[in-house]
Amino acid sequence: MDNIVIFGAPGSGKGTYSAALVEKFGYNHISTGDVLRAEIKAGSELGKIAEGFIEKGQLIPDDLIIDMLAEVYDTMRQGPGVIFDGFPRTIVQAKALKEMLAERGEKISVTLNLIVSEDVLMERLLKRAQIEGRADDNEETIKKRFNVYYTQTHPLIEWFRKEGVLSEFTFKGDKDRMIEEIIDKVASL
Ligand code: AMP
Repeated sequence: MDNIVIFGAPGSGKGTYSAALVEKFGYNHISTGDVLRAEIKAGSELGKIAEGFIEKGQLIPDDLIIDMLAEVYDTMRQGPGVIFDGFPRTIVQAKALKEMLAERGEKISVTLNLIVSEDVLMERLLKRAQIEGRADDNEETIKKRFNVYYTQTHPLIEWFRKEGVLSEFTFKGDKDRMIEEIIDKVASL
């Protein structure tokens, strides 16, 4: 089974490229952000805790997200593979993912790192704010999320490199081209 991590700054297109991989390969897709937003909507205990962190552009505590992830993963283990979108976001989460997969005889197949310039990211997020109305897509919170990304998540790139699973894709203005490159990589696994 393929276990694909899709990784990048807020607005880097993780959702878009995940959707392309789901369509092409029939993978199951775990977006921790989507799961949390659904929990908030449902008014669950986790949703209540998550809401404050998300609105401030901060990360939800590692233990909560790790427990949630393992539970969702276990519902998705049939089929050709799983895409992890928005997880891991910290070194603690990355180590927990490695362990959780190892306990099930699995491992990270590849990490797709999406590299996009910061002005393109900001432009996309502000546009998404108008379309989707996400509570955390306003300029102030976006800046905080970038900061959280660079301080807590970006260091993971070196961790993935050391694990031998890093594959990098730079956006050069052509989304379809990027989709092709990503599909080629995943097809070669
Ligand atoms: P996303 O939709 O992936 O941009 O996630 C939206 C928000 O959900 C983030 O800004 C965090 O507050 C929270 N979140 C999503 N995934 C994680 C994670 N792996 N660890 C901690 N917080 C997360």
